[in-house]
Amino acid sequence: MKHIVFYSGGLGSWATANRVIQRYGKENVILLFTDTLIEDEDLYRFLEDTEKDFGIDITRLADGRDVWQVFKDTRFLGNSRIAKCSHILKQDKSREWVEANYKPDECILYLGIDFTEEHRRKSPIRNWAPYQVEFPMCEEPYVNKVDIIKDLESRSIAIPRLYNKGFSHNNCGGFCVRAGQGHFINLLKEMPDRYKYHEEKEQEMLKFLERNDISILTRTKKGQKQILTLKQLREEYESQPEQIDMFDIGGCGCFVEE
Ligand code: SF4
Repeated sequence: MKHIVFYSGGLGSWATANRVIQRYGKENVILLFTDTLIEDEDLYRFLEDTEKDFGIDITRLADGRDVWQVFKDTRFLGNSRIAKCSHILKQDKSREWVEANYKPDECILYLGIDFTEEHRRKSPIRNWAPYQVEFPMCEEPYVNKVDIIKDLESRSIAIPRLYNKGFSHNNCGGFCVRAGQGHFINLLKEMPDRYKYHEEKEQEMLKFLERNDISILTRTKKGQKQILTLKQLREEYESQPEQIDMFDIGGCGCFVEE
């Protein structure tokens, strides 16, 4: 029986991997990383540090496209409701690899969802059937991010730098089509060049699709749903920062939605 952890390079998936390795031994564990090719450079450092520490070579997969190429190929701009990037670059890629290597009764799959996210368990269980999916961080002893950081510190492993920059995850280099206004403003403040890149890519995509009525972000004003491009968001932040909903963080769910 192989124990396959979807290893994203985030704190939750590290804690999951650590727990699964402690239970079953490193020789029975596979850490599966799917690269979106727009990851933060420090994510690769974290992967290297942790693979040395665990004594396991991480299995690295990549479709070869990044999220923007996926949006172009599918002629669909990802947003909080539909993220084809995560389907194609992460879920499909992982499924292809798992099915090619193991039958459902030869492996168990593990996701880093924790006890505060119990409601997110249903979709991956349904999506991966007949494979079995487990969520070790939903089990006792319950740990939070601070506990995980302490654990990493005790092993002299620096946490991925995006967490220190105020990001809630280490996916896609701080970008995510499921993120909210507050998350994107954090990207603008912490990594303005990266924000500019995505702002330009979104504009390029609108031109490519010949649309001016879509955007990654949307908001509701006076009961009306409105588009909010990254260009608009930046301009509004520069002129009227108090108008931005900094509590709208959104949430990445690469492996947890339909
Ligand atoms: S982190 Fe966000 S942008 Fe990146 S693949 Fe997942 S859903 Fe898409």
